[in-house]
Amino acid sequence: MSGYWDPHIERMPLEDLHSLQEDRLKFVVRYVYDHSAFYRRRFKEAGIMPEDIKTLADVAKLPFTKKADLRDNYPTGMFSAPKNQVVRYHVSSGTTGKPTVVGYTRGDIETWSESLARALTSLGLSRDDVVQVGYGYGLFTGGLGLHYGAERMGAAVLPVGTGNTERQIELMQDLGTTAIACTPSYFLHIMEVAEKMGVSIRNDTQLKVGIFGAEPWSLETRKRIEANTGINAYDIYGTSEISGPLFTECHAKNGIHVWGDMFLTEVVDPDTGEPVAEGEQGELVFTTLHKFALPLIRYRIGDLSIMSNEVCECGRTHPRIMRIMGRTDDMLIIRGINVFPSQVESVLMRIPEVGDHWEIIVDRKGPLDMMTVRVELTESGFSDKIGDLMKLENKVSKELKGVLNIAAKVDLVEPGTIPRSMGKAKRVTDNRKV
Ligand SMILES: [Zn+2]
Repeated sequence: MSGYWDPHIERMPLEDLHSLQEDRLKFVVRYVYDHSAFYRRRFKEAGIMPEDIKTLADVAKLPFTKKADLRDNYPTGMFSAPKNQVVRYHVSSGTTGKPTVVGYTRGDIETWSESLARALTSLGLSRDDVVQVGYGYGLFTGGLGLHYGAERMGAAVLPVGTGNTERQIELMQDLGTTAIACTPSYFLHIMEVAEKMGVSIRNDTQLKVGIFGAEPWSLETRKRIEANTGINAYDIYGTSEISGPLFTECHAKNGIHVWGDMFLTEVVDPDTGEPVAEGEQGELVFTTLHKFALPLIRYRIGDLSIMSNEVCECGRTHPRIMRIMGRTDDMLIIRGINVFPSQVESVLMRIPEVGDHWEIIVDRKGPLDMMTVRVELTESGFSDKIGDLMKLENKVSKELKGVLNIAAKVDLVEPGTIPRSMGKAKRVTDNRKV
């Protein structure tokens, strides 16, 4: 059982938390209306004035914002703070369109760090830990986000960034790293390289915690990582538009606490924008309650999740969101059926002969979509007997069909065939778009 970073806030009675959210919601709506030409225009178009927001439920009267708004107002057209109050910018890679720019005041950086200090404490870390940050540093929010959060908590930070895997493993041993933060696919690569170097993560390092995110990953992958290394693997969540990585699971590993004093979280039907019933899956919508350079009102993240408002067994009263299935952007539509790469992962990781690396290739043959799943086998799962391989291929294919409801072609490949990633893994090649 770990302690709290800020027990007063984290265990705040729900009525008090809701009343704080209400005050902050009214404040932020007035603030953006007064300081951002974008929001003033948007509110006028929707026929809404700041004084119309009187209760928390009134949030539903406010118009949504989306990534497209950030792109259309590139670079800083949605900002609410004057330029001389901005102390940092982060910029998205723009791989799927124009990049988006996020700015932070000094206070915004503090709120961000505070959010992570709470989160890292909730999963059991403290100033006694050495946190190796294996997320990219630079314009991407992952590296610096974790860095400031862990430092605020008082841990020692090892800012290794991505790549240079052998050196990472040596430093992990030399400096007694106890926690690592990186993408789950990069950690799988670290496991593989450690094994080749003859280093047992379980016996030759002090690593006890992994903080994995920036790409969707399944519970089955968690089980695999934990069984192979003896560490506790936790999910971390956030997205650059609302700061960067912000929230993690607590030690209960039953959902990610989204701090209610900083963010108002809603779950809506992705098609209609109407709120879903509690416990139902929908698209996450965040309103920043304590952010000043680029506050966002009802920002539709595109991630699908389920929210719980029940008080967690850890004693924290703040809402939790359940493991993210994927972004609506990541969803593939194959012959009219929705497929999330994370569903494919959860099937594959249950099969012991299947290794940690895989990819999906989608083609169109005539009018028909074809999905191929290339699957790397483990050293022990690999056989040179055609009969064994065919049996395994059938098994994988049958299990995929059971979950996805469509047939996929399965290609089993030798260990080491599929390219490894240092950051976010590229799991899908969709040749229909080319
Ligand atoms: Zn909890």
